[in-house]
Amino acid sequence: MKHSTSNSKPKAASAASYQRLQREILGWYAHHARTFFWREQDAQLIDPYVVLISEVMLQQTQTSRVQEKLPLFLTEFPNIAALAAADNATIIKAWAGMGYNSRALRLRDCARVIQERHGGIIPTLNDELLALPGIGAYTASAVLAFAFHHDVAVLDVNIRRVYSRLLATMPTTRDLADESSIQAFAEKIYPRGESSRWHQAVMDIGALFCTARAPKCMSCPLHEVCPSAGTMQEVRKVKPPEPSWEGTPNRIWRGCIVQILRGLEGDATISSDEILQQLFAGEVGALFENNNAEMTQDAWFLMVLRGLERDGILEITAPRRVGSHASGDTSEVLPHDTLFSCSLRLSKG
Ligand code: SF4
Repeated sequence: MKHSTSNSKPKAASAASYQRLQREILGWYAHHARTFFWREQDAQLIDPYVVLISEVMLQQTQTSRVQEKLPLFLTEFPNIAALAAADNATIIKAWAGMGYNSRALRLRDCARVIQERHGGIIPTLNDELLALPGIGAYTASAVLAFAFHHDVAVLDVNIRRVYSRLLATMPTTRDLADESSIQAFAEKIYPRGESSRWHQAVMDIGALFCTARAPKCMSCPLHEVCPSAGTMQEVRKVKPPEPSWEGTPNRIWRGCIVQILRGLEGDATISSDEILQQLFAGEVGALFENNNAEMTQDAWFLMVLRGLERDGILEITAPRRVGSHASGDTSEVLPHDTLFSCSLRLSKG
């Protein structure tokens, strides 16, 4: 949650202070950059396709996991054409271990639009990138900076945090400068011709030192020039509650269901009863012994399945109401508390 501070003391920015900051950050990066294979040292070797895929993966997945999974994904889908041709089930299987499976479908949809509208070539204009499915302002600017070396400001949550702390004394680790100040600073601070190296350097400092909680100011290379160095009170952000069942977020249960479906061969289906048995076996199942006052287990399970169906991740085939006649009509609306049994598989898309 962004939280603007009114107590921060803006530090007078001058050309000299900008230059010093640039020297400190790029000087540190020259010797301490994190090495990821999507960050080629030789700009000529950078593949925009690899940058695009890595940026989408990094949106909600840790770098160590992306480092492990990205090469496998690129082996299966080496280019836009291969990715565009993938059906839902294939792409969801390839996305195993990454979480947030809807991202994989949007990425495939993005490849299809690039294939159809741009002949398989990733566009180099901001407006064209923003018009692609699943591409927001951050990803568009990251692709322009990292893949095409355009002079563009890149702002994600980590860069916003570092810039805020460099702009003024932040009272607590939760505070951020106001968005207009961050935007103005972002536009001015990056050295022209160095957008790619600059933003990767700031991201590395954000990941290694200037973390959301417990920043390591004493060992940070910006300690001497940062107004927030060692001054912030540590305050934990309170995460808004997310839809859960007996304390376990629905997104975790969605991931468990998709993982079971990934194990099916070809067009095979699995019954909802079998999935319930697998989900609720052992210690995990013990969580469900308590009754939820607002919703029965069946109603909750049906809601989760319908959500996965809506997102194009699974297909519900042959739903059947217990005590009623079998029906092949998948559009049948089942009451929330209706016991039901149906067959499931990953969506073919
Ligand atoms: S000195 Fe502390 S607050 Fe400033 S950039 Fe470094 S880690 Fe962040």
